[in-house]
Amino acid sequence: MPELPEVETVCRAISPRLIGKKIKSVVIRAEKLRRPLDKNLHEIEARTVKNISRRAKYLIFNFDEINLLIHLGMSGILRICRENDEIIRHDHLSIITEDGADLRLNDPRRFGLAMIYPVNNPPEFLINLGVEPLSEEFDGKYLFEICKTKSAKIKQVLMEQKNVVGVGNIYACEALFQAEISPVRSAKTLTKTECEKLVAAVKDRLEAGIQAGGTTLRDFFHPDGKPGYFSQKLAVYGKVAEKCPRCGGKIENEKISGRSSFFCPKCQK
Ligand SMILES: [Zn+2]
Repeated sequence: MPELPEVETVCRAISPRLIGKKIKSVVIRAEKLRRPLDKNLHEIEARTVKNISRRAKYLIFNFDEINLLIHLGMSGILRICRENDEIIRHDHLSIITEDGADLRLNDPRRFGLAMIYPVNNPPEFLINLGVEPLSEEFDGKYLFEICKTKSAKIKQVLMEQKNVVGVGNIYACEALFQAEISPVRSAKTLTKTECEKLVAAVKDRLEAGIQAGGTTLRDFFHPDGKPGYFSQKLAVYGKVAEKCPRCGGKIENEKISGRSSFFCPKCQK
């Protein structure tokens, strides 16, 4: 599943190729992904891409008073082709610029999303999102204020989108490991210092992911290119019964709200 660093990487990769370009046509090849691919997607035709940004794991393409929102779902890939390049299986949507670039959304599992909305009337799911993890707003004090009243496990609190967006299962596990905090601890038992450490670890792991993505950028421009969802160097995620890279102890796996959580019980307290 594309995580926040992948979406950020896509955003950075496609921006220089598309910002300032006028859309010639939109080609819809599937009736629906997570939701129907509405005919109003054609509203961006003859308009110019003013900006491309990321909010949580959403890509937002601004065309003055309307925005196009794309979410990659479980398996979505965005790549830039030339408009005459062969259409491959699951190429559900093409956004073609006047200079012949073709931004294609390929999504085998069809959990992705592409929709248009007026800038002054964003959908509710965008309004209710928490802070960005890489923003200054997300700091130790912020996390401590959230944690101090919550009995829920810290990992659960970290993955709750209304608290902070885009910290998926992998990054939650890795950040908690780096901060030496057990994922099963009740959030309210965390000290201010631990919250600061955890916030720093979240930012550090996400930044490392974005860095890793930078090396695969060229793949976005290969017509048949794979997306380059990068395999990051992971310390604990998916490594049950392997040795902890810090203390040599055994990594364990425990389900927390239905999600596999990997950690070292010896050095995460
Ligand atoms: Zn350990």
